[in-house]
Amino acid sequence: MIAVLKNGVSKQQVETLITWFKGKGLDVHISEGKFQTILGLIGDTSKVDIDLLNGLEIIETVKRISDPFKSANRKFHPDDTVIDIGGIKLGGGNFQFIAGPCSVESHDQILEVATKVKQAGANLLRGGAFKPRTSPYDFQGLKGQGLELLKEAKVKTGMPIVTEIMNINTLDLFEDVDVIQVGARNMQNFDLLKELGHTNKVILLKRGLANTMKELLMSAEYIMAGGNENIILCERGIRSFETYTRNTLDLSAVPMLKELSHLPVVVDPSHATGMARLVRPMALAAVAAGADGLMIEVHNDPPHALCDGAQSITPEEFESIAQQVKKVREVIKG
Ligand code: PEP
Ligand code: MN
Repeated sequence: MIAVLKNGVSKQQVETLITWFKGKGLDVHISEGKFQTILGLIGDTSKVDIDLLNGLEIIETVKRISDPFKSANRKFHPDDTVIDIGGIKLGGGNFQFIAGPCSVESHDQILEVATKVKQAGANLLRGGAFKPRTSPYDFQGLKGQGLELLKEAKVKTGMPIVTEIMNINTLDLFEDVDVIQVGARNMQNFDLLKELGHTNKVILLKRGLANTMKELLMSAEYIMAGGNENIILCERGIRSFETYTRNTLDLSAVPMLKELSHLPVVVDPSHATGMARLVRPMALAAVAAGADGLMIEVHNDPPHALCDGAQSITPEEFESIAQQVKKVREVIKG
């Protein structure tokens, strides 16, 4: 349920109302817009008399929200959420490039890629240290050592780092990580989501291989229910009957998620297609669809990458895509 308050109500009046809601066992989410304050009521609202509320002097209107996701809902929070990543803003018109290798492989590899993607226009550095691999015999990542190398690349380039967590038991190792990624395979690892909800870390939440947008938003809700509202949603392709591409990029998810939610949405065209030559067209299409950022796998030597070489582009290709993305952004800004 949401209660839209009249313009110009006093702080005291708002506080009295919030106390009254809390007395009914409800959690109150406050969204203070430029002109209006909206109170989102979370919990069992069946005990709330909607007619009584509508009759109150400070209330303009009260609506029941039927969507199961509340905190992530745009109705609760009409303005776009802007995520602050060490001073870099993402969302609400602020577009960012996240680039780097699928996995951190060695000191020289991550430092070279980091330096080159930064020169090419990247704002954040990605790189997996804990890798979810389909086969247990494939490279599983450098784990703690990989995180140390990423931190070194962060110090050298000044770029905030984005890396995946697979198990909450390793959370302590992520203290200096700027954005914690929850990968597609863990999108519904509810215990992990709940724990991340108790941190104040920025979370990049990737859509699961076979999950609906509603399920993605419910996973975001798990994190938000714990008090952490710093979430970036990521469309990375879903399973379909198609086999030529690794996944099927659901570009309609970009405008749809942004309509349903105030959270920013980024697109990963690398995992979505699995093919380096498809990264450019899909990156441009994602930007045209309104994405708030792109996450692209870039490797200094794709044929020898330990993971996802086929979809990795070179720093030079990344630079050329980044230039074109800027042009598309100019066009859609009008
Ligand atoms: C990744 O970004 O490295 C990754 C494993 O992606 P996904 O979880 O989308 O497969
Ligand atoms: Mn990968």
